[in-house]
Amino acid sequence: MTDVLIGLGSNLGDRWKNLTRAIREINTIENTKIVKKTSFLKTKPHRAPGPDYLNGVVKITTSLGPEELLDRLREIEAKLGRKHTFKNAPRLIDLDILLYGNQKIKTNKLTVPHPGIKTRDFIKKLLLEIEPNLK
Ligand code: AMP
Repeated sequence: MTDVLIGLGSNLGDRWKNLTRAIREINTIENTKIVKKTSFLKTKPHRAPGPDYLNGVVKITTSLGPEELLDRLREIEAKLGRKHTFKNAPRLIDLDILLYGNQKIKTNKLTVPHPGIKTRDFIKKLLLEIEPNLK
């Protein structure tokens, strides 16, 4: 089993409900369990103009590999009604793999640790809520 941190974001519709539903869905992924979740934080969109985001982070433990997990997260996004329209478009739900154990991954599907960890203060803030000793 590997500890994984997943970032959640929503800036369309009932954002609180979208995040809560996504967390519920993540908990139903096979061989996966939610260990911890952060509070939700309101943030300004960083890449394109649009409504404010609500963001959260969950820590899971899973036996799925990173690409398999990414596929499950994409399925949850689709189930919750996300439409992939254009880059950085407002979104009902966005699920990102922030950290996958201590692995470094760079494929055309995945970059882990997620590059946003370094550039987005709110991710750091939420990660520290879960892992106060994270370096
Ligand atoms: P987004 O618009 O944020 O949903 O970007 C989705 C794309 O980012 C997908 O095509 C993923 O394959 C890619 N991607 C790269 N690294 C990651 C990651 N760590 N977590 C989630 N998606 C990722």
